[in-house]
Amino acid sequence: METGWLLPDLEDPESNEFWAGCARGELLVQACAACGAWRMPPRPMCAVCRSTAVRWEPTTGRGRVWSFIVPHPPLLPAFAEVAPYNSIIVELDDDPGIRFVGNLVASAHGAINEIDPATITIGEPVRVVFHHIEDVTLPRWVRA
Ligand SMILES: [Zn+2]
Repeated sequence: METGWLLPDLEDPESNEFWAGCARGELLVQACAACGAWRMPPRPMCAVCRSTAVRWEPTTGRGRVWSFIVPHPPLLPAFAEVAPYNSIIVELDDDPGIRFVGNLVASAHGAINEIDPATITIGEPVRVVFHHIEDVTLPRWVRA
C-alpha cells in the first residue's frame, strides 16, 4: 500500500541530518550555530543573523495540533487509496515557532486514515513517533 508515496531525498545536504535523526528516533531541528535560532524547514542561512553556520539540536518531540486539513481528490494515486486522511501542523512545545507537517495516527505504523478527522481538535497535545517507508523514516504524531 505504501508505494508511490512522495519521499524525501536523503542525500539533500540541507536536510540529510534531519532524516538521519529520524532514522535514530530523534526529532532534530536545524539551529543557527551563530545565534542559536531554530528554523524549520532546514535552509542554508539564518533569517535572524544571516549566518550560514549550522548545527542540529534534539527536540522533546512534543507539541500541539496547530491546524489540520482533510485532503480531498484529486490526489496522487498512493494518497487517493487512503483518502480521507488527515494532515496536521504541529507546533513544538520547545519553540511554538517551529512547526512540522505530518499525520496524526493511532500508532507509529498505523494507517494515516485511522483517526477520524472529526475527532481532531486544535491545541490537542501530540508526540512524535517514527514510521519506516522504504529506506526513509518519517516522523508522525500520536495523541499524547
Ligand atoms: Zn542566526
